[in-house]
Parts: sequence; C-alpha cells; structure tokens
Amino acid sequence: QYPFDVEAVRDDFPVLDRLVGGDPETPGQGASDDTPLVYLDNAATSHTPDPVVDTIADYYRGYNANVHRGIHQLSQEASVAYEQAHDTVADFVGAAGREEIVFTKNATEAMNLVAYAWGLEELGPGDNVVLSEMEHHSSLVTWQQIGKRTGADVRFIEVTDEGRLDTDHAAECIDDDTEMVSVVHVSNALGTINPIRELADLAHDHHALIFADGAQSVPNRPVDVDDLGVDFLAFSSHKMCGPTGIGALYGREELLDSMQPYLYGGDMIRRVSFEDSTWEDLPWKFEAGTPSIAQGIGFAAAIEYLNEIGMDRIEAHESLLAEYAHDELSALGGVDIYGPPGDDRGGLVAFNVEGVHAHDLSSILNDYGVAIRAGDHCTQPLHDELGISASARASFYIYNTVAEIDALVEAVSEARDLFA
Ligand code: PMP
Repeated sequence: QYPFDVEAVRDDFPVLDRLVGGDPETPGQGASDDTPLVYLDNAATSHTPDPVVDTIADYYRGYNANVHRGIHQLSQEASVAYEQAHDTVADFVGAAGREEIVFTKNATEAMNLVAYAWGLEELGPGDNVVLSEMEHHSSLVTWQQIGKRTGADVRFIEVTDEGRLDTDHAAECIDDDTEMVSVVHVSNALGTINPIRELADLAHDHHALIFADGAQSVPNRPVDVDDLGVDFLAFSSHKMCGPTGIGALYGREELLDSMQPYLYGGDMIRRVSFEDSTWEDLPWKFEAGTPSIAQGIGFAAAIEYLNEIGMDRIEAHESLLAEYAHDELSALGGVDIYGPPGDDRGGLVAFNVEGVHAHDLSSILNDYGVAIRAGDHCTQPLHDELGISASARASFYIYNTVAEIDALVEAVSEARDLFA
C-alpha cells in the first residue's frame, strides 16, 4: 500500500514507540503515560532517525574539533566531513557545488542573509519586492522590514478562494521595477504547491531575482534548483530528519560572489590588516565564526537517509496521506479545511472544527496522544484574510501511517461531539 517499507522506517525512530501522558477519560489532566504517540506535527519539526543520531554521536565521540583552522588530524577529519556536508546538500537540490550552499542556522537565517546582504545594497525607493499572501513570517517580516529601511515597496500576490496563488495577479504585481520575487514553494498553512517555475520565468522576464522558501518542499519532494529556475532557495535541516541549528541557503554562484558578507569575523576572511580585509572563497565568506559542525555533519546524514528511501517515494507517500486525511476529515462534517483539494497539496492539512477553538482541539487531541499544531503557523496575515485567528494543522512525514490518520480523525470526531 505504501511506496516504501514504512514499518522499517519507523524502527529507526524510537520516539515513535513512546507512550505519552494523554488520557481521554480524564481530559486535560492525563498523566498516565499509557497512550501511544501519534506525531503529526512534522511541518514544525520532524524526528531524527537513529543513523543520524549515531552520525552526530560519532562526531562528538571520535573527531570533535574546530574546522578549517587546525593542522592536527582531528581538525582535518572534522573539516573534511563538514565541508563534504555542503557537497551532499548541493547534490540534493541540484546546485553546481559547495560554493552555492551556505550553511545557516535555519531557513529564517538564510532569508535574512539575502535580505541584508543583497536587499540593503540593491533596493531603494521606486523598487518593489513581490511576495505572496501565504508567506511565512520568516520571509514576510524580513522583506517588510527591509522594505521600510530601503524605501522599496512590498507587494503581495493574492490567494484565491481555493487557496492557490492568483497567477493573474502575480503577473500584475511583477513589473519592471520588481527586483525580487520571494515566494513559498509549499505553503505550511494551506499545503498549496506553488508554481515556482512559472514565477521564476515571470521574474526573470522583468530582470528580477526569485527566492523560493523551500522549508516545506525540500524535505518532502524532489527539488532541483535548475528545474525550478530559482536564484535562491532556503530550507532547514530539522524538518527533514536532521538536527536543529542548521539550515541552508542555495544561491547562484555569481550572485553570492557579488554580495557582501552578512556576518564578519573569523573563518570568513582571507587576509586582514588594520586597514582592511579580504574574504574567503564561497561559501565560507558567509560562514563567519565557528560553524555548527556537528549539525552540518548530521544534516548530510539526514539527506543520505532520505536519499536511501528516495524523494519520489517520499512525495508519493505524503500525497497519499494528505489526500486520505483531507477526505476523511471532510467526510466528518463540521470541519473547515483550508487550501486546495486533497489530491493536489503538500503533506499537511490545516482545518477548524466548527464551534471548537483550534487550541482546545489540539489540547483534546493531546489527550488521545495525537500531536498536532494549533495557531496561526507564522502566517498571521493569511489567517486574517481567511477571517480566522487560528487553525489546527496535521502534518505528515515518512513514518506516518494511515492508521495514525484514523486515530486523528477519530479524536477530532470525539472533540466535535464533546463541544456539540
Ligand atoms: N518557511 C516555511 C514555509 C516554514 O514552514 C518554516 C518553518 N515553520 C520556515 C519558513 C522557517 O523555518 P525555520 O524556523 O527552521 O527557520
């Protein structure tokens, strides 16, 4: 039924065998620790499989050392592993090589890097930056504030009633004064898969650059920067089986080359005098100070783990779960689901149960051991547009099963009846 052996994958994640404190018999106070965990909060962060944990532990136990600086063996081993991790990430998204991959703290920092290093230099009054109404705060707030500092206008492509990007409106927003188009690839709130290639062509026709937020696409489907036609792409390791504290910025080499550093300090310089400094080669020019070495090595291990399963199969698995969850929740009645139809969305479903606040719903689901997200999912303006203050979101990953979605739907149905 599944595109790969999900049970074998689950064996790599001991946390999935955990019992949690929920107890539907005593709502809100269960501390029984006898309810199986159903983890459906993967869009917030995914779990980390044993091979990745082992890789990180091997680093700390075997060759922990600072990179780039040491001539001693441990430092060389750590440097090789850390540098090669960039190659692994580069291959994963179809970048030309490590010079196009900057390790950052997360996707948010990758966006800020471009906004500061490129935006502050290149934008000014009369220019505009085009976003969409479904942007995550990490890009929305960043470009909004850079817009205020530079005088550039920030425009938002509208979202249709079906939760899709209005491509006619995109064509109106993007004009000859557009310098940057920054759009989320897969929406973390609506599940919409956006037509990045089309937007990239539109942006390039107007000599603008395009930045895709890949936080919810790179973990879940094959992503190739050339196929998408993007100039920049941001993503985070912790949403794709890797550790927290590390993410990546893909940038086209000539663009990264032309940009000034975002952070200054050690490791990013070639030569320093009291008067001036010159910069290291890419990508190190953008990685000032001691980097997240263990996390970088762990990030590469996570990518190897995903590659082992195959991104095509991961995408198929998530589509299957998203469609099933969408259809089963719709069939319940009294459930509003946001975003496109079940057969055309990323692996998540955001919804509200009529008469039940998303936070109450999430709390009741917790009693059933079902972990979901409730809130605005860092898309407050989009929630304003939808006329809601919060929604519940179930999001799926490689280890989730149809049985777990049945548990979700059962718990949602109980919650709805409780408030009826
Ligand atoms: N963009 C999207 C679409 C996201 O879902 C997230 C994470 N919720 C981010 C950006 C930011 O990722 P991070 O918090 O890892 O920087």
